[in-house]
Amino acid sequence: MMTADPVAAYVRGREFRMLIDGQFVGARQAAVNEVIDPSTGRVVGEVPVASAADVAAAVEAAGAAQPAWQALGVDGRGECFRRFGELLRQRREELASLDALDSGNPVRAMRTDIDLCMPYLAGYPQLARWLSGEVIPGSPGGLHYTSYRPYGVVGRITAFNHPVMFAATRPLPALITGNTVVLKPAPQVSLSSLALAQLFAEAFPPGVINVVTGGAEAGDALVSHPAVKRLAFTGSVPTALVIQRRAAESGHVKQVSLELGGKNAMVVFPDADIDEAVAGAIFGMNFTTCQGQSCGSNSRVLVHRRSYDEFVARTAEELRGYTVGVAYDESTDMGPLVSAQQHERVSRYLEVGVREGATLVTGGDHPSGAPSGGYYMTPAVFADVRGEMTIAREEIFGPVISILPWDDYDQMIELANGVDLGLTASVWTANLDVAHHTADRLDAGYVWVNDSTRHYFGTPFGGTKDSGIGREEGRDELFSYLETKAVHLRLADPRAAFARLG
Ligand code: NAD
Repeated sequence: MMTADPVAAYVRGREFRMLIDGQFVGARQAAVNEVIDPSTGRVVGEVPVASAADVAAAVEAAGAAQPAWQALGVDGRGECFRRFGELLRQRREELASLDALDSGNPVRAMRTDIDLCMPYLAGYPQLARWLSGEVIPGSPGGLHYTSYRPYGVVGRITAFNHPVMFAATRPLPALITGNTVVLKPAPQVSLSSLALAQLFAEAFPPGVINVVTGGAEAGDALVSHPAVKRLAFTGSVPTALVIQRRAAESGHVKQVSLELGGKNAMVVFPDADIDEAVAGAIFGMNFTTCQGQSCGSNSRVLVHRRSYDEFVARTAEELRGYTVGVAYDESTDMGPLVSAQQHERVSRYLEVGVREGATLVTGGDHPSGAPSGGYYMTPAVFADVRGEMTIAREEIFGPVISILPWDDYDQMIELANGVDLGLTASVWTANLDVAHHTADRLDAGYVWVNDSTRHYFGTPFGGTKDSGIGREEGRDELFSYLETKAVHLRLADPRAAFARLG
């Protein structure tokens, strides 16, 4: 078990630096952000804050490294992935502990996050080997075919909830397709990305992957840089809208993919196995991974009236048994929220829910025994939630699950689809007809049947409506980092060629 002090002491005794062109560097203007441990609320270190000049240096390095990286081919690039995977395994304990300290996610869950990176490291090179162009049956007398070219430099901006996993996996599809990357992690959780930078430096040629830290200003410098034609963003809808606008204001045309929030519906039919459905609802909230701060969490559970009361009672009872405490303690089920700001935001939603007439069945408190300065919240269950309530429409991004009753199938579908977001959904039933029809009618980019929250490498993940643009984790994603080139060969009449030969 890693206790607070060794991890904090390790961080305090160490300088965390960005990675630009294979070099570990501080910010040019010596600007730093405090690192706050959400388990205690105490400052435990500092990380660099990149200026626009730092970001420009990273983009320049990525641009210079790109042609040679592309020339390596998929196998050469895959070899770097393999080396990186080995290093990641070796440094698993350190990285998981850093994430627990920095993000508040339980250390056990962060070890699992690192393990979950492995199928991505192995999978992308395999998928990339099979990306082929087409021969197109076009007009007579011609041969038409397509091939693919990387964009060049990709700007990759990530959210705070899975720090090391996002830093280790989100750049991979851009890299395997021959692009080079500038990665900017979320400012609340930079430590593991900066530690990971050492692994990148060992596994990849200089400049192929660069890590810059900081907040909106550093992100904006990346978005606005003329040499970054392809941007990939994971984060909130309001930031995504700013990024789209700022990308356009750069005066250059950019390809932007967006992985955004969710207000995901889990639909429970009266024939569903209630034990499995209750367990699925709790598992699908990702309480024990990141305190429900997860885009894919089933934060709206739509339960048929026949099972409703039992479902609410059993969910609440199960969650009352959770140990909420210090993130780096092995016995913790749920750590603190990532920041004081996030804690305030979630607390506001709890107040609004109660004010609008929902019943707070359990949770939303500071757990007894947890350090008073930490940003803790016990898992909260709202019952008697109606579709028009704020807590049923807006993404809370915290340990709050809302349970809504339904009676009529069409009204339930309307309720499930009646929000602006459309990331994931799940359907719980023993009936295959019901499962297929409902999966088809739900407005979501990813639907589970009798399952929830798990990602399966190769299966595209992403949202409809305001939940985003593009799909990740599969073939579609690899193509999204490539531009299509079409070639047309005019094929002359062979008789004319022979005639010229005499
Ligand atoms: P956020 O939008 O506040 O920040 C995300 C990133 O954008 C951070 O790195 C931040 O520094 C950067 N940023 C902020 N302003 C910027 C600007 N003007 N220009 C460029 N970059 C800027 O989001 P968050 O609070 O870190 O994460 C929570 C959100 O992310 C939730 O809405 C969640 O649903 C979403 N999310 C989505 C997925 C997915 O795969 N769909 C995964 C995880 C999180």
